[in-house]
Amino acid sequence: YPLVGNLIGEDHVNYVLMYNMLTGIRIGVSRCQAKIKRPLTDEDFAAKHKFSFDIVGNELTPSAKYDFKFKDYAPWVFRSLREDYFHLDPADYLLSLTSKYILSELGSPGKSGSFFYFSRDYRFIIKTIHHREHKFLLRVLKDYYNHVSTNPHTLVSRFYGLHRVKLPRGRKIHFVIMNNLFPPHKDIHETYDLKGSTVGRLWRANNLEADEKAQTETTNSEKERRKEKKKSSPVLKDLNWINGHHKLELGPEKRALLTEQLRRDKEFLKAISVMDYSLLVGIHNMQRGNRDNVRRKTLKVFEPAIPKELARSVSAVGGGYTTTPEAIAMRHAMRSSDPKALSLPSNSSLLPDTLNPQSIGPHNRLNFIFYQDEGGLRATDEENREMATIYYLGVIDILTPWGAGKRIENFWKGLSADRHKISPVPPSEYAERFFKFMKAIMKGGEGNAQDFV
Ligand code: ATP
Ligand code: CA
Ligand code: CA
Repeated sequence: YPLVGNLIGEDHVNYVLMYNMLTGIRIGVSRCQAKIKRPLTDEDFAAKHKFSFDIVGNELTPSAKYDFKFKDYAPWVFRSLREDYFHLDPADYLLSLTSKYILSELGSPGKSGSFFYFSRDYRFIIKTIHHREHKFLLRVLKDYYNHVSTNPHTLVSRFYGLHRVKLPRGRKIHFVIMNNLFPPHKDIHETYDLKGSTVGRLWRANNLEADEKAQTETTNSEKERRKEKKKSSPVLKDLNWINGHHKLELGPEKRALLTEQLRRDKEFLKAISVMDYSLLVGIHNMQRGNRDNVRRKTLKVFEPAIPKELARSVSAVGGGYTTTPEAIAMRHAMRSSDPKALSLPSNSSLLPDTLNPQSIGPHNRLNFIFYQDEGGLRATDEENREMATIYYLGVIDILTPWGAGKRIENFWKGLSADRHKISPVPPSEYAERFFKFMKAIMKGGEGNAQDFV
């Protein structure tokens, strides 16, 4: 997992794109945020707000460094998701994302060609997505919203915003804002991306070298990216997990809660007919601590630079927003959450209620069961005693529907391997296999991970 990424300064190829994305978010989101909250309507799910930026500026948008267009999709829906369900402080959200115009780029870790950018404080990830993923998210937005609102503890990716930037020469870039599952202040010592599929699901150290030979690009940013990739720990896969005889160590309570939430989540993913998603597992070993924390170092190096013109344009519009009495009051309310509300129930027969909406108090983000221990889930033994490991878990990459491309992939891959062990299988088969595998990798859980090979 790339702990660092390349920091994007003014000389970076994607600087303009990033500047535009962040300017758009800043203006678009603060526009919606400035209005008085109202209940959602059906139209909100299909709403698109357009902004046109140029160097001169107009009554709607302040002057920007470059000419571009920005679209904010379903802004009221995402506002409600952020505030009502993910319990984000709106001021924090905007500040983290856009107060400093240097993000770091993760390059393109997957095969899809998507790019990932971290906000400066590593709390948020911007992922560029394909147009078809974008259309798909809009199509299932209502289902997603319903799932999140009835499952406050869902492990499914948290989407905070869906936007598009259009550059003058017509290139359209779609992107989502998501939560970074991994904490900014803790090293992740091992990362796994688990699907329940075992064909080709092995990370090998020599892949990197092979990669390098195959690469012909000689640009500095490519070189940098590969260097970073080598330095940071790799994202391991299903076969690495199985071969290493790993287990998620969770005592009966947490195991039951996690199993039940995963069951609900896989039902949702089945219902929207997607596949190819995975459970991302980050493991922090508390004994090892944060010795290798490279992120902090890089943050220091890159302290400078908010472009002045940006600072000015922002204060022209959203200016003062983050210091309004409301924002201050809001933050205060969020930080003084009741510590009593944070602990797990002592009896797992409470389970169904524990995972339901009423279990979460208003503005109590610390109350997310699976993210309550330093942003993650502390390992426990069979007596529910805490152990020296913290897991960071989430179901990611959920926007791939079962379409023509995947059917063809299923056909071809199925010719040379077990058709039920390849990644592209129909959504309901995928969901059941995924869920079964997740139970099998929990210590004391049902089933045997070896059976998936
Ligand atoms: P592909 O379709 O080839 O699998 P992708 O481009 O759609 O790739 P993802 O599967 O979404 O990419 O993510 C790739 C990697 O990026 C993950 O394995 C993980 O290391 C990292 N990543 C993705 N989402 C998150 C997140 N929310 N928090 C932390 N890391 C993430
Ligand atoms: Ca993936
Ligand atoms: Ca993908």
